[in-house]
Amino acid sequence: MKGYAMLKIGQSGWIEKGRPACGPLDAICKPLAVAICTSDIHTLWEGAIGERHDMILGHECCAEVVEVGADVKDFKPGDRVLVPAITPDWNSLEAQAGYSMHSGGMLAGWKFSNFKDGVFSEFFHVNDADGNLALLPKNINVVDACMLSDMVPTGFHGVELADVQFGDTVLVIGIGPVGLMSVAGTNMRGASRIIAVGTRPVCVEAKKYGATDFVSYKNGPIFQQVLDMTDGKGVDKVVIAGGGVETFAEAVKCLKPGGKIGNVNYLGSGDNIDIPRVEWGVGMGHKQINGGLMPGGRLRMEKLGALVSAGKLDVSPLSTHVFDGWDHLEEALFLMRDKPKDLIKPVVKLAD
Ligand code: NDP
Ligand code: ZN
Repeated sequence: MKGYAMLKIGQSGWIEKGRPACGPLDAICKPLAVAICTSDIHTLWEGAIGERHDMILGHECCAEVVEVGADVKDFKPGDRVLVPAITPDWNSLEAQAGYSMHSGGMLAGWKFSNFKDGVFSEFFHVNDADGNLALLPKNINVVDACMLSDMVPTGFHGVELADVQFGDTVLVIGIGPVGLMSVAGTNMRGASRIIAVGTRPVCVEAKKYGATDFVSYKNGPIFQQVLDMTDGKGVDKVVIAGGGVETFAEAVKCLKPGGKIGNVNYLGSGDNIDIPRVEWGVGMGHKQINGGLMPGGRLRMEKLGALVSAGKLDVSPLSTHVFDGWDHLEEALFLMRDKPKDLIKPVVKLAD
């Protein structure tokens, strides 16, 4: 089979590989549509998870099941499925402890294009199919379905990590596709004021998803702008979905005592994160910093899919660049690397 792979840091291309084998609990799937993620860019061009050779890229898609193992109960060949970016081993101790995304070790639930071949391939392997896949609701098209792999679950996880409550004032740092979904999730959780940080004009979508105020990180320190906008009070919660290691200091400075930060940003470079001592209440400010990889799992995917299916969440504005066929995959990947101003998310359709 053909797959689009990271050949080494900074180099990618199509390669030939054997079709993966299907274990008793597994499924083999073929993509119906795939989306490119900023994480693919961190991995391939920044070497953020280290060197990988001939590893097929990609972790966002929806797919058709082509083969299932003997012990798979709820899926069969021909089923169209949502595929989460994170596919934990559900019988691991980490999953039993409530951290399935780290099943087998730190971040090890993130298997596609990290510990095994990803989904930019004619066929790909899904471990623990009953635990990880979800049926694709009939009224969700294949392009929108790709947004349920990672953008919705990750953006919403930032909201969960920040523990957004009714009436909160929330700062969302970064309004790319992940941050836009954090804005949407923050709004659904009942925040009153949502201050969004970003500059790309296409992110006016953030307003439709519920952002009430905007800050440009190019106009000086974020915290100063946020404190000015809130009469010096700051915000209850911060979701971080963009920027670099420096955003944590900004977030701590923006937070009220007792506030919480939920980070889902993948920090691709830098060695340390600085926490400002004074604004962190000289160690006693009850300002919590939580960072997490999105949870996967069938139950969560079914619930998030139901939000889209029921018309409560419109993900269609995210897919700004839709291509037809594998021939356009590289173009889509390079587009995500270069991030033109009108881009939110590139998607490659392989079926209707
Ligand atoms: P984008 O690059 O599309 O968006 C990043 C956003 O951050 C943009 O709004 C950008 O603004 C803004 N930004 C850039 N620099 C700064 C800065 N210095 N200060 C504040 N804001 C800044 O990224 P995505 O939405 O695709 O992804 C966001 C992050 O989430 C990535 O790091 C990605 O790898 C990670 N991720 C994490 C996952 C998880 O499970 N935890 C899963 C998937 C993705 P501008 O408008 O100017 O471009
Ligand atoms: Zn992703």
